[in-house]
Amino acid sequence: MLFTENKPFDEVLESLGNDKNIFLLACNGCAETCETGGEKALSTLRTELKKAGRKVTDTCLVDFLCNKILVATRLARHMEQIQQSDSVLALTCGIGVQAVAKVVNKLVRPADNTISLGGLQGLWPSEERCEACGDCVLDYTGGLCPLTSCAKGLLNGPCGGAQDGKCEVDSEKDCGWLKIYERLEKLERLDNLKKFQKARDHSKMMPSADLRKTLFYDLER
Ligand code: SF4
Ligand code: SF4
Repeated sequence: MLFTENKPFDEVLESLGNDKNIFLLACNGCAETCETGGEKALSTLRTELKKAGRKVTDTCLVDFLCNKILVATRLARHMEQIQQSDSVLALTCGIGVQAVAKVVNKLVRPADNTISLGGLQGLWPSEERCEACGDCVLDYTGGLCPLTSCAKGLLNGPCGGAQDGKCEVDSEKDCGWLKIYERLEKLERLDNLKKFQKARDHSKMMPSADLRKTLFYDLER
């Protein structure tokens, strides 16, 4: 299970920028358990978005957004509404956002932050990876995680060392930032790269003190 917290609504609104038509998606798996996904969180976010003057084109609840086959099957009947939307906003973990971004040809934005619980990778681990950084930036990178797809975990573009599209640290791997660039270009969102990302606040990875008490109670006794 991946643990998530809702992003502050102001932050979600800011990340939406000028996007008016939003397709809203929620995970009914881990995120539902954390109360950051599921029907209730979906309904709350839909209401907040409407109050803020955004149009919710449609909504969808999927049992496990980390499972691409399930996502593709469930979203097939919503593709028209998704295509008519400016972006997709997803109440889910970093793996869920990455999985949805592989299935739809739209910018997928995270409405949740993924908090570290020690390296678990969702219920259907595939090639997507999340470091549970606690401050998800997948909206800025087109649904590809810069922390796990770039060997140096760079947040503000490539290091410049890539050779023929391969990473200078590991020539077996594609340069993560080249993939991010290509994805944003395809989505016509290259403007995203003009935004500056602040240095990571590593304390955001940690669960809150209350949650730590619950999760690690036995270990801390
Ligand atoms: S930016 Fe990457 S590491 Fe951070 S929460 Fe999102 S997917 Fe996970
Ligand atoms: S070559 Fe690309 S993936 Fe490798 S460290 Fe540099 S920016 Fe990151």
